[in-house]
Amino acid sequence: MKGVSFLIFSVLWLAMIAFSFHYQVEDDKKYAERVVFKQAEMFFKHLVQIRQWNSQHGGVYAPITVNTAPNPYLKVPNRDVSLPNGIQLTLINPAYMTRQLAELEENGSGIRFHITSLTPIRPENKADDWEAKALQAFAKGASFFTELTDIGGQPFYRYMGPLKLDSDCLKCHADQESEVGDIRGGISVSLPGEFIDDFVSDRVERLRKSHLLIAAVGLLALLIASWAQSKLSRRLTKAQSHLQLAYLDSLTLLPNRRYYDAFLRREWKRATRHHYPLSMIMIDIDFFKAYNDNLGHPEGDQCLRQVGRTLRRYFRRSGDLIARYGGEEFCVVAACDSMQIMQLAEILRMAVETMKLPHPDSNVSQYVTISLGVATLIPAENMECGDLLLHADQALYKAKHSGRNRVAKYQV
Ligand code: GH3
Ligand code: MG
Ligand code: MG
Repeated sequence: MKGVSFLIFSVLWLAMIAFSFHYQVEDDKKYAERVVFKQAEMFFKHLVQIRQWNSQHGGVYAPITVNTAPNPYLKVPNRDVSLPNGIQLTLINPAYMTRQLAELEENGSGIRFHITSLTPIRPENKADDWEAKALQAFAKGASFFTELTDIGGQPFYRYMGPLKLDSDCLKCHADQESEVGDIRGGISVSLPGEFIDDFVSDRVERLRKSHLLIAAVGLLALLIASWAQSKLSRRLTKAQSHLQLAYLDSLTLLPNRRYYDAFLRREWKRATRHHYPLSMIMIDIDFFKAYNDNLGHPEGDQCLRQVGRTLRRYFRRSGDLIARYGGEEFCVVAACDSMQIMQLAEILRMAVETMKLPHPDSNVSQYVTISLGVATLIPAENMECGDLLLHADQALYKAKHSGRNRVAKYQV
């Protein structure tokens, strides 16, 4: 993995982690909200049960104290009674009980609830704006109303459920033209926003830690993968260059004899399988010993390099190969027939001649020239690739002895 890929993968990984973190935090917030609204709903239902208990008893009597004064809005006979021992009792109806519980609850837990109506008997039971909205929603058929909203600038999760009149309620509400089942009002339950703040911040902290850990582990894994890959590719490059050196002639940078032999064997097998002709050219520089003797060995090396470079230009196809066979000899293998190889051989001969490399000691030209022996065979099971080599060598011998700087073809 190169540096850029590592960077791209790292950024992608971190983006995924950030997305996961954001998604889970938001999901947890929504979940916490659902839980808090559910709690409010349960609170509401619980209150309704307590009110029902009170209502079933037609209200309950409690001693009159500083905190429990007679309810001025309760207009029923025997609202206040005296016991023989002088203790004064007053009747606590569901509405009064709810108010008293609400005070206790707010002072104790911070949870607020408020019994309310659009047409309250007691002015303090008047609905606030949000409760009015909820009551209107009940009138249209809603069975509950929830919202995260502000009370006095503080966030509250508010739940409101409707209160329906039953026969017991009518004892107090008979004067208001009401019937059993009518929605007379509702109770709003408001839970402070801070109730879930602790839960959410604790959860966010846990998620932050786990995501940081996952991000770090992922980055570490990427780093290790990147390091291992670059180590592997370094070893591969080294192995490749060793391999190249093993099959490359260091002077001309052409494939060497070893590569040529392997290539020839492979092509020979392929041609045997598919019954197509395989051709070969053996190339030898004319009077090269004399060239060396006259101009020196380094000049001879330079000449070999230049001849190699010129010859290489004609080999682009994967089925054709030119190699340095050894000394001042080159050889060619090509998957073509005898006419095509003769044409190629002539092109190579001319290419070297037109290089016009001066050769002061050649008997055939004033320039460096080559002689070429050409052979073609359609390989068969009873033949060997050595046969093709032998034929090309014999053709080269013929080219040499018939005057050099020419192409000769193997004749049976
Ligand atoms: P012919 O035309 O018959 O081929 O004559 P020739 O002189 O080319 O043939 P011969 O085989 O007698 O000489 C080959 C010479 O090639 C001998 C050797 O000095 C030279 N030679 C072989 N390998 C190298 C090399 O790597 N560098 C140099 N500079 N010369 C080499
Ligand atoms: Mg030779
Ligand atoms: Mg020679």
